[in-house]
Amino acid sequence: MKQAIAGMVRWTGLGALMRFGFARRKATIVVYHDPEPELLREHLAWFAERYNFTTMDAVADAMETGRWNALPPYPLVITFDDGHRANTKLEPLFREFGVRPTIFLCSQIVGTARPYWWKTAAAERIGVETLKLVPDAERRQRLADFGDDPDRDGAERQAMTWDEVHRMGEVADYGGHTRHHPILLRCDDRQAAEEIELCKTELEASVGKPCHHFAFPNGDFGERELAAIRRAGYRTARSIDPGWNGPGSDPLQLKAFPLSDDASVAWLSVQMTGIPAKLRTLKASGRGKPAAAPDVRPIPAA
Ligand SMILES: [Zn+2]
Repeated sequence: MKQAIAGMVRWTGLGALMRFGFARRKATIVVYHDPEPELLREHLAWFAERYNFTTMDAVADAMETGRWNALPPYPLVITFDDGHRANTKLEPLFREFGVRPTIFLCSQIVGTARPYWWKTAAAERIGVETLKLVPDAERRQRLADFGDDPDRDGAERQAMTWDEVHRMGEVADYGGHTRHHPILLRCDDRQAAEEIELCKTELEASVGKPCHHFAFPNGDFGERELAAIRRAGYRTARSIDPGWNGPGSDPLQLKAFPLSDDASVAWLSVQMTGIPAKLRTLKASGRGKPAAAPDVRPIPAA
């Protein structure tokens, strides 16, 4: 399947076509998590030949003022979700390529040894996709029952320390990614509001700078989450729905291309068309309701 899509995109020149058609005057946002520096260097070199790196702040400025000419042509924002510990190894690359990415942090995981719950042995045994479907309290309980309580420190630190966050602040901006990385749609009203609003105040206190941008964990949100984003005063919120952002886009529902951390440059060029992410969404929405969690909808993407 992967080969077929890659072949089709190469054969038709679709990547270049879409770039020319959509990306010239619209902001493209890409999403990484925890890529290796050697691989990211190849990706950044590929981007540098085709796009101009810009920042989330610059995109927010363009959206708020309508002055899209202030952005360079083919504007691209690089983002990282979660605040993974090894993101610190990317600092020299950001300097080398003149990239100022936005790193979205979980305010109650960064600076602790609490695990990213979907990366635990417990989550692997229960099934990450299963856990995304159950009410949040049940998710936490089931993880704890299997030995990886997401609210307690794990054996090994997975997130950046606050010292590392401060150091990286020279080359990166920070945004909010909730406090504990729940699936917001599975939280009750109070918790959903706290995960969005307190994340902002906690990050501002720890980072020492205003926190203007947000990224939805797993890309999931509804009207309730958008209302909380507005109340909290974020300038933008980023999904993982593939697509470009232009003058008519909603700054609180920014589209972005989720990229595989281990993608070859050939596969990167395919992912930049948005086709793989779109196909995954279609497949997920056709999956139907799981028997274990009858009251919740399947989640489109990882
Ligand atoms: Zn995340």
